[in-house]
Amino acid sequence: MSVIQINNLTKKYPSPDNPSEYFNAVDGVSLTIEAGEVYGLLGPNGAGKTTTLEMLEGLCDIDGGSAFVDQIDVQKNPYKVKQIIGVQLQANEYFDNLSLTELLKLFGGLYRRKVDPEALLAHVDLVEKARAKPESLSGGQKQRFSIACALVNDPKVLFLDEPTTGLDPRAKHNLWDLVRSLNETGMTIVMTTHNMEEAEILCNRIAIMDHGKLIAQGSPQELILKYAPEPPEKVLHGNLEGVFLALTGHGLRD
Ligand code: ADP
Repeated sequence: MSVIQINNLTKKYPSPDNPSEYFNAVDGVSLTIEAGEVYGLLGPNGAGKTTTLEMLEGLCDIDGGSAFVDQIDVQKNPYKVKQIIGVQLQANEYFDNLSLTELLKLFGGLYRRKVDPEALLAHVDLVEKARAKPESLSGGQKQRFSIACALVNDPKVLFLDEPTTGLDPRAKHNLWDLVRSLNETGMTIVMTTHNMEEAEILCNRIAIMDHGKLIAQGSPQELILKYAPEPPEKVLHGNLEGVFLALTGHGLRD
């Protein structure tokens, strides 16, 4: 059963060279995400990934096409959509003088839900930090806490924007374990990443975007078999990084 359906989704922004003209930051993207999938959105910087997610999340207006989350039309019912999704952003700012427990209660209050902060912190392995302030957390702990905040309304779909950027290898592996355990509860996860290993390990399916368009979609294995240039001296196939470079022609961070 599909939980997200996007049809011909389009977003226009003023052109950076000439503000009186517009360009399609998202240019007719159509895709379907099944319930229970971990779905990765990949592409070079400026490809339109964040804008696509923001339209799905009801955070920015849709200029063309349609988006449905759990059969709810995002354009008609953005507030209803917000009730069933969790959004973890790349960088979060919190009220400085509140503890993790207090912040989770506060966020729960915004959804008019009574939350169990200890259970949420246990989920992200931060019980021992219940009384700490966010500023005292390490990078990996901050990322896990921002996921706990995104879970206060027990979402059906969790959106993660580059969840492991800047994390050391151990923190990154802890976060991968967390994503897997959330997905095992049946939660659909939609994530962006620049880390091809992460995409290959975590995602059931991947979409690659460039210049606002969706240019390829499939399981990591399907994409590797179809697009990755095979090194002539090796019997093994290439990897997802090869797919990305073959399709977009850019380095990962340019
Ligand atoms: P990605 O997430 O793939 O890096 P974005 O969705 O952030 O890409 O951006 C897609 C394009 O839209 C880029 O050219 C970016 O500069 C432009 N853009 C994004 N947000 C805005 C905005 N609020 N105003 C104008 N242009 C924007």
